[in-house]
Amino acid sequence: MIKVVVSGAAGRMGREVLKAVWQTEDLDLVGAVDIRAEGQDVGPLWGAPEVGVPLQADLEAVLLETRPDVMVDFTSPAAVAGNVKTALRHRVRPVVGTTGMGADELEEIRSLAADLKVGCVIAPNFALGAVLMIRFAAEAARYFPDVEIIELHHDQKLDAPSGTAIKTAEAVLAVRGDYRQGFHGEEEKIPGVRGGRHAGGIRIHSVRLPGLVAHQEVIFGGLGQTLTIRHDSISRDSFMPGVLLAVRRVMHLEGVVYGLENLIFA
Ligand code: NAP
Repeated sequence: MIKVVVSGAAGRMGREVLKAVWQTEDLDLVGAVDIRAEGQDVGPLWGAPEVGVPLQADLEAVLLETRPDVMVDFTSPAAVAGNVKTALRHRVRPVVGTTGMGADELEEIRSLAADLKVGCVIAPNFALGAVLMIRFAAEAARYFPDVEIIELHHDQKLDAPSGTAIKTAEAVLAVRGDYRQGFHGEEEKIPGVRGGRHAGGIRIHSVRLPGLVAHQEVIFGGLGQTLTIRHDSISRDSFMPGVLLAVRRVMHLEGVVYGLENLIFA
């Protein structure tokens, strides 16, 4: 049995993870953490009866008390790095879905995990379809270097652009190198016409609306044609097989693996 603590357990993703871990035979849900917790049982968070696991506010206290193998974190950009470092120092393996972590924080976590020889998986998207979308986008970029990304998420998402969009842009950039698309350095002459943020020269447009979960279109343009690769997570169930895979695989890792593709295709 792999002992799991869920951090951000009362959130949209945290509740799904609680349910998935609870329903999985080889995993043992030993603790749950959320900043506004008051010791209530977590079962009702996913519509179940009480399961005997309290929701607590202090991550470090829960790690000391429950001695888990893995901490799954779906919290916020402000909280995630601190939580991951706390887990690593207690030799608990983090599986991280929270997006919006800064590059410096990621580097610090990489070196801490390597020094301590503790496994850690960080994945901006745990949905298999999204991982395939990024792979197909990298393949298409060999033939269509001109590309823009539209990512669409629910209106409570804190970060923009999404971690998935940034990862897609990085995958395309790795293929197309220093190719520069569109007209250069002239955008300010048409204010308001071209929205979105650059990621290495690739524009990412972020849509935030109620009714959405997590969606992305990667649109390539060529001579007289376009190619659109689209992925839709229509429910948060879509992320759970990837999270469970990471929980099992992180047990055998040392240091940080960034991206679910490195577990699926490796
Ligand atoms: P959410 O509903 O806001 O849930 C986050 C939860 O974490 C909230 O209950 C929040 O409490 C709690 N929290 C904040 N700081 C904390 C801390 N220091 N310790 C413990 N709990 C803390 O957000 P969500 O929609 O579940 O998304 C969570 C993260 O996952 C986001 O970064 C999102 O982009 C990411 N995400 C990733 C994937 C993936 O596949 N990798 C998929 C979907 C979402 P309060 O509400 O009181 O602040």
